[in-house]
Amino acid sequence: MYGKCGSIQKVRELFDKMQHPGAVSWNVMIAGYAMHGYNKHGLNLFEQMNYFGTKPDPVSFICVLFACSHAGLVDDGCKYFNGMSTFYSIIPRMDHYVCMVDLLGRAGYLVEAFYFVIKMPLKLDMVVWMCLLGACRSHKNIGLGEFVARLLFELDTKNAAPYVLLSNISAEADRWDDVHKVRKLMIDRGIEKLPGCSWIEVHTMVHVFCVGDKSHPQTQEIYIKLDKLLREIKGAGYVPDTRFVLNDVEEEEKEFILCHHSERLAIAFGLLKSPPGTTIRVVKNLRVCGDCHIATKFISKVAAREILVRDANRFHLFKHGQCSCGDLWRLLVIMRKQAAHASML
Ligand code: ZN
Ligand code: ZN
Repeated sequence: MYGKCGSIQKVRELFDKMQHPGAVSWNVMIAGYAMHGYNKHGLNLFEQMNYFGTKPDPVSFICVLFACSHAGLVDDGCKYFNGMSTFYSIIPRMDHYVCMVDLLGRAGYLVEAFYFVIKMPLKLDMVVWMCLLGACRSHKNIGLGEFVARLLFELDTKNAAPYVLLSNISAEADRWDDVHKVRKLMIDRGIEKLPGCSWIEVHTMVHVFCVGDKSHPQTQEIYIKLDKLLREIKGAGYVPDTRFVLNDVEEEEKEFILCHHSERLAIAFGLLKSPPGTTIRVVKNLRVCGDCHIATKFISKVAAREILVRDANRFHLFKHGQCSCGDLWRLLVIMRKQAAHASML
């Protein structure tokens, strides 16, 4: 419960009080560290778990592979995955394969990830292909992305996710004709997209916000606060990254859309309604976009608040202008690309 609410220190305090933690407790602690971006702590704990004689179970390996994936530790991840059956007699399940595709895909090894998928000894499902498609988007691989998306359209005819991802990949490449084709296909097939929503609890009441939401009774106050925040963070150096708006609209309108993403409305409301110095906790059903990630770093600095955002993937603890996720894997991808470029020269 503490882990899922973002209080990782509390989890550690409780864990340290346990006389003989079992595999479940070790797993919760390792997963907690990994979800909060303390990947090395998680991996060290896994080694300690072994040292103290607690046998890892299949869930332990999901936690470990998640940590490797988010830290960009491809070699370590492969080592743990291969070690599962060799040293621990654990046959990898679908979850483990998905973690491996995520690990390879995040680090930019898209071709390796693709061959890994087609060689899998299990029946392929949606999740593993979605994971690869997500990586195609991150690394702007339109060719492979389109191929995988078309496979997904046939696998699950009612799921909007692959359509949205393919539309995003095309929009990011300025291929607006392709974006319109995918949108038309969605309409023809009657597929509806899940709207981005964020939740925040204030005085035991949960408040929900969607993108550009104006249904909240205190909408006016929230939007005034957002405008004020925008001026402050721009003063601190924030420049809106409008690549994260995937509509064919004018720059100013893109900036307007970005500034009213659901998590920003929830954060502004939290700043208005909670005492100074308290942590703001927001939950989002989708991933936080890159621009909101940057903006929230600035907000944590100008408002002098800790802001915890749990998105569809992980926790982000924004503090003093930084995020606990550290953007580490993105840096690793850039470094790898630079190294490859250097070796070509
Ligand atoms: Zn956003
Ligand atoms: Zn983050």
